[in-house]
Amino acid sequence: MARDAEHIEAQGCHSGATMEEAARKAGQSDLLDQFAADYPTGPHDKPQSMCPAFGSLRVGLRMRRVATVLSGSACCVYGLSFVSHFYGARRSVGYVPFNSETLVTGKLFEDIREAVHDLADPDRYDAVVVTNLCVPTASGVPLRLLPDEINGVRIIGIDVPGFGVPTHAEAKDVLAGAMLAYARAEAEAGPVARPEAGTSDRPGVALLGEMFPADPMMIGAMLAPLELACGPVIPAREWRELYAALDCGAVAAIHPFYTSAIREFQAAGRPVIGSAPVGHDGTAAWLAAIGETFGVSAEKVAAAQNAFLPAIKGALAQAPIKGRITLSGYEGSELLVARLLIESGADLPYVGTACPRTPWSEADAAWLEARGSKVQFRASLEDDLAAMEALRPDLAIGTTPVVQKAKELGLPALYFTNLISARPLMGPAGAGSLAEVINTAIAGKDRMSKMRAFFEDVGAGDTAGVWEGDPNLRPDFRAIQRKKREKAERAAKAAEMI
Ligand code: SF4
Repeated sequence: MARDAEHIEAQGCHSGATMEEAARKAGQSDLLDQFAADYPTGPHDKPQSMCPAFGSLRVGLRMRRVATVLSGSACCVYGLSFVSHFYGARRSVGYVPFNSETLVTGKLFEDIREAVHDLADPDRYDAVVVTNLCVPTASGVPLRLLPDEINGVRIIGIDVPGFGVPTHAEAKDVLAGAMLAYARAEAEAGPVARPEAGTSDRPGVALLGEMFPADPMMIGAMLAPLELACGPVIPAREWRELYAALDCGAVAAIHPFYTSAIREFQAAGRPVIGSAPVGHDGTAAWLAAIGETFGVSAEKVAAAQNAFLPAIKGALAQAPIKGRITLSGYEGSELLVARLLIESGADLPYVGTACPRTPWSEADAAWLEARGSKVQFRASLEDDLAAMEALRPDLAIGTTPVVQKAKELGLPALYFTNLISARPLMGPAGAGSLAEVINTAIAGKDRMSKMRAFFEDVGAGDTAGVWEGDPNLRPDFRAIQRKKREKAERAAKAAEMI
């Protein structure tokens, strides 16, 4: 047993199958089966981006009066807290360390419980979120046995292993869903508090997905002619917003991958609307779907459409985008951005998203496919790179390694997460918001070609690193190493077949 624990403790991001096996042996099959149903994998099933737990960590860190505790290997916690502070967390990330002995004897669980009791101060916190990372999840550390509440502070225990939750986007859903489940149980048990900012008297539409701060305001303006209001955004910024979101008349799955959160809304009897009010066609269809869901008269829906669609058309026409673009990312908003780019005039033959296909992304995928785009759900880095290399776009929008590869090829590239997804996308404010950054990048193509020609192949292959003379090439050594590698691969394949 101790050896098992040491074995698990020594595993890392790329030990998914081993850790999953260990987790199942440790009684975590229900959890893993639920993950498999909520976040279906295939063809791509391994994280190729940062640790997925960053998604849930960030959701907790952005909520007021919520404390966050991680339980996992020190290297994982170091990386996660580093990235969270890089993104401006401005508060502490709690950590309960462990070793193979505390893991095996159950002392780790006792340590977590003690940490939670120490933290649960109702003057400071509404909730404490404890997250099991890969190793404690694989070892079956039972966070469900933590008390639900200590001194009025809610205790939320979640497992977010890289071998069960494929992307950091879906990890946001793990925490959002757990919080909604808790809040729903509270609301069902009796009266709950209103959000500090109050709520509208009109029926509301809750929004799912982290978005640009002006987007909910824009959506609110488009809902006003329907006599509806924009409800809270989930993931929420304060605990009480969870009640208000559950109390809304419907939920808009602006980001379509919030499967467990949607389950909670549906359990509360709330209808769910896919897609989003992006561009002309997206806004027209979304307003119609909202009107239908709330039983708003056709005249009012038409009035709302007439109030906003011409402005969207005008904004798109004033900010055209010319050129071929490939787009990929792991935020879950890729299809919405792709729609806007196409309506702006771009040729967009490929859209890759690391997120899975869900019912709430169907309308966007169909719209894009009808316009000649290949939509790749659960896209791997290899898919994204292959599309870029084959299509040779004027601009590649993608994740860091895609951007890096594009630059190596002399292609202009923009990083999706920081430069594209963090912009307004909805309604008239979103139409045309992407053109400036995209056209500037496309216009830099000559500069990229010049830079590439200037540097020739410096920094690539044998010329990588610092050399005082010419690299000492040994093709004979390489041939031996290649043979060894091929032999090992053949042996591994043969072992798999036994
Ligand atoms: S917790 Fe994250 S960083 Fe650590 S092993 Fe799992 S996926 Fe990798």
